[in-house]
Amino acid sequence: MGTTICLGDDAIISMKSTIEELKEVLGDRLHINVPLAPYTTLKIGGLADAWCEVHSVDDLVEVATAARIRNIPVTLLGGGSNVLISDKGIRGLVIKNNTESISMRGARGKLSAGKSERLVYVEADSGVVMNKLVRFTCDEGLAGLEMHLGLPGTVGGALYMNSKWMRPEGYVGDVVYQAEILDEKNIRRIVPNSYFQFGYDYSSIQKTHDIVLRVVFVLAQSDVKHLWQIANASIAYRRQTQPQGVRSPGCTFRNISAAQALISSLPEGSTSAGFLLDHAGVKKYCVRDAEISNVHANFIVNKGKATADDVVQLINRAKEQVKRQFGVTLEEEIVRLGEFS
Ligand SMILES: Cc1cc2nc3c(=O)[nH]c(=O)nc-3n(C[C@H](O)[C@H](O)[C@H](O)COP(=O)(O)OP(=O)(O)OC[C@H]3O[C@@H](n4cnc5c(N)ncnc54)[C@H](O)[C@@H]3O)c2cc1C
Repeated sequence: MGTTICLGDDAIISMKSTIEELKEVLGDRLHINVPLAPYTTLKIGGLADAWCEVHSVDDLVEVATAARIRNIPVTLLGGGSNVLISDKGIRGLVIKNNTESISMRGARGKLSAGKSERLVYVEADSGVVMNKLVRFTCDEGLAGLEMHLGLPGTVGGALYMNSKWMRPEGYVGDVVYQAEILDEKNIRRIVPNSYFQFGYDYSSIQKTHDIVLRVVFVLAQSDVKHLWQIANASIAYRRQTQPQGVRSPGCTFRNISAAQALISSLPEGSTSAGFLLDHAGVKKYCVRDAEISNVHANFIVNKGKATADDVVQLINRAKEQVKRQFGVTLEEEIVRLGEFS
């Protein structure tokens, strides 16, 4: 999904006519030239050639397939909380995923270190908002996702990035049991956890461009009060350390590996991109309305009318400064969508 699609004039004309054809199939559900900025947490982005909101998994499959068989590129948008959308917008169809069903799929007992443990399987559509899912699992006394309270975005976006929290450490991929995907050939498949090859900020769908339809999580029965303590501590930590009420896509850069921190003899052996940016002195750097937050150096904030171009320039300036100071090249965590030069 995180791909850059640049088209020549002939290709643009031909896509316009296939989009007209798609409009005949999807009718009023399909909208043309829709501004994308309102659907992102950064509030930046040009127009989508075509736009459709889906509310059920079958709907998502139908719309994505109808576009793909006509060679119209499809981009999925969940909460728009980890994306930088180009000022030139996104060619093809953008699907806004509003699927929202959560259900219990069963339970089984397991012996672990001599103790019996009850595992419960919870299924969520890929458009389910993570905060809704976390609240549901905490209320049901199911452990595994509680540390993610406050994570913006949807289940699909969280699988794409293998979203994480470090206090206590947890990756969304840790508790994925299986998922239903729509693969590139438009075939619906059930795939196990191993399919995603989850790693730091990584899942295989970043390469395969499968669409996640729904996900089964495996969670351990636990104490409701204890889970809410962890969930509330995560929220409190976010409030203390992250800028609040701003237009931002969260952390801009990935943390670096422990091996890289060692080779580069970084202060305190830190692997945190925020630490490096802070010590490189980039807080408050700005390009027009795009600014590096004074609260958290890894957060870029749109103070009003920032463009994607401004953000890219700011990213480059911050990267150069860290490279100069520590010899480390930071990699972006945010996903660029659309045309970037
Ligand atoms: C204030 C703030 C705090 C944040 N805190 C954290 C944090 O603690 N930990 C963390 O890891 N991240 C954090 N983030 C980043 C972001 O919230 C996560 O990466 C989130 O999981 C993205 O989900 P989304 O639905 O918004 O994805 P989007 O931004 O909509 O999309 C991201 C990518 O996923 C793809 N995608 C979305 N849905 C699907 C699908 N169904 N199938 C296939 N591909 C799909 C998109 O095409 C795109 O390439 C934070 C962001 C903000 C703004």
